[in-house]
Amino acid sequence: MIALRRRYGRGLVLGVLLLVMVMVTACAKDTQGVLPSPPAQEESGDQNTAGADNKGEDEDGSSDEPANPNEGNSTGEENSTGQEPAQEEDQPDASNQADFSDAHSVTVLVNKEYALPEDYEPSDLVYPDVRFTFSEKIEKRMMRSEAAAALEKLFAGAEEDGIYLAGVSAYRSHSTQTSLFNRYVKKDGLEKAKTYSAVPGHSEHETGLAIDVSGSDGKCAAEDCFGDTKEAEWLAKHATEYGFIIRYPEGKEDITGYKYEPWHLRYVGTEISSDIAERGITLEEYYNAVPVTASP
Ligand SMILES: [Zn+2]
Repeated sequence: MIALRRRYGRGLVLGVLLLVMVMVTACAKDTQGVLPSPPAQEESGDQNTAGADNKGEDEDGSSDEPANPNEGNSTGEENSTGQEPAQEEDQPDASNQADFSDAHSVTVLVNKEYALPEDYEPSDLVYPDVRFTFSEKIEKRMMRSEAAAALEKLFAGAEEDGIYLAGVSAYRSHSTQTSLFNRYVKKDGLEKAKTYSAVPGHSEHETGLAIDVSGSDGKCAAEDCFGDTKEAEWLAKHATEYGFIIRYPEGKEDITGYKYEPWHLRYVGTEISSDIAERGITLEEYYNAVPVTASP
């Protein structure tokens, strides 16, 4: 009724009522059930609520976010290690809950997008007991204790296979990274410097969990030609067994932000490293590159 009134105005409604009353009296023999119910008008009026389901999928605008591999990737066969392709995308994985945003955690994610806190300094740096390409006991020989212990095992394991590795550069303090970067900027300009050196706070070497390695002869240290050595081959095959990953694998530059660096090892612990090895993914992919700011 109300609907009718809205639609046709009071006059018409009254008219209709009158007519109904006339009809009711006319058909007096059957008074029950004659009252015509108003035309079924449920005023389904606001189409807006019907069917418009807001899924709240607002992309957070951070533009150069690495591609999310779990989205719309039906073929998903890309795999650099030649192991079986990752098939179980989208499966919730409890290990993915490792804390990538805690600078103190060995699982921290540091890349061109995610930086360490300005004042971060590892509290448990030690000198791993392994061969280096230099003999001084200086900063770049240090690593966080858990990573250092794992590195010793890795070097020993390599030797059992006749592979003799040497450390080239491990920990780098924030101030060292800053002066290094500034030197590059002075030499090549900011944009160019950023292509080959990390902005201070964004270098994995500042975590104390990364190390560049070479063969014991130091040949091809931190150079592309290292990729062709038997040492690199061994690392690619076995580093993950010791909790390390080749952090910047071949063909993943658009995800990691770095070209292939077969010499740059990053300690993440065996739980993550074995998962990464199995699925042939990067650390960014492992975390789905969740923004640091979204941490609980
Ligand atoms: Zn490195």
